[in-house]
Amino acid sequence: METLTDLTPAEVQERLTAQGLPAFRSKQILNWIYGKTVTDFREMTNLSKPLREELAEKWRISSLKELKQNKASDGTTKFGFALYDGSIIESVRIPMETGKQTFCISSQAGCAMGCKFCSTARMGLIRNLSPSEIVCQALHLRRSAGLNEKQVFNIVFMGMGEPLANTDNVLKAINILTDKDGMNLSRRRITVSTCGIVNGIRRLAREPRPPRLAISLNAADDETRRKIMPITEGNPLDELLDQLKRYPLPPRERFTFEYVLIGGVNDRDEDAAKLPRLLNKLRYKINLIPFNPFPGSGFLPPDPARIEAFQQILFSKNITATLRKSKGCEIQGACGQLATTLKKPRG
Ligand code: SAH
Repeated sequence: METLTDLTPAEVQERLTAQGLPAFRSKQILNWIYGKTVTDFREMTNLSKPLREELAEKWRISSLKELKQNKASDGTTKFGFALYDGSIIESVRIPMETGKQTFCISSQAGCAMGCKFCSTARMGLIRNLSPSEIVCQALHLRRSAGLNEKQVFNIVFMGMGEPLANTDNVLKAINILTDKDGMNLSRRRITVSTCGIVNGIRRLAREPRPPRLAISLNAADDETRRKIMPITEGNPLDELLDQLKRYPLPPRERFTFEYVLIGGVNDRDEDAAKLPRLLNKLRYKINLIPFNPFPGSGFLPPDPARIEAFQQILFSKNITATLRKSKGCEIQGACGQLATTLKKPRG
């Protein structure tokens, strides 16, 4: 069976026209899915019963089955989804201070990047997600949040996986999410976060409307970075920064550099002092994320005074550096804590 949400709205229209449906019917169906987050043809009450049945025989809409929701006291909710092959992924819905919601979604089941401080890395790569599996996380989270089609939200590709190791499907999903007949989300509301795959960034830069970019930097020199992020081999900082300088960053936008602060690893004064020199000539802000522990990680966050000192050094150089209060820690839903602790469903 084919999946409708794997297709762009134009492709949906094309395929349904070939199936004998007039264009306005495709529009109605797309509106049910992306406007009203209805993923069951039986609920599409402006279609005739026989048509609903015919469609349901040919097409699947959602490619995800919700297994579990965990809500933390700060309102952050972690979702576990089963894919058709029994693989499991996680997504996190985060209420922001601004009143908007941020959906943190996965691009792969597991991850091959091997970052030493990240629990998803322990899973290894299971497989890439399809465009539909990416899009449906957003659909599902929007429905669970009770948001209507006029209420905007943000999407960050900061769940499981490395989006630029699955670039084709991530870009197709972004096209569906931003299409006016799809989820109609502004591209400014979508951030792709990467561990710094230079080729992938080059590829994004060629897109007509590239998404926002966040880079998980986590160190100010290659030597420190290599110890915690194996991807540094083959993607050294000078090449990464060179590529970022060529990125078509719209006026008034900036890059986000994420920096996970790990005690005794990358939290020295000299690390902080090196950052402004390294990132010189770019428009950016830094997001400091104290390391979120997980069982067996072998790392600890720095103590609060060290974190404060690190941030102060950046402030003294006029760098925007926010300290990200980790949300959803108690449900293992914070940065770097996504890994499937759920059992695979049987059958
Ligand atoms: N692969 C992409 C998308 C994952 S984003 C990327 O690397 O950007 C996940 C973010 O969480 C990254 O910025 C990563 O540096 C951060 N992170 C990973 N493990 C963490 C941990 N244990 N504590 C805090 N942040 C962590």
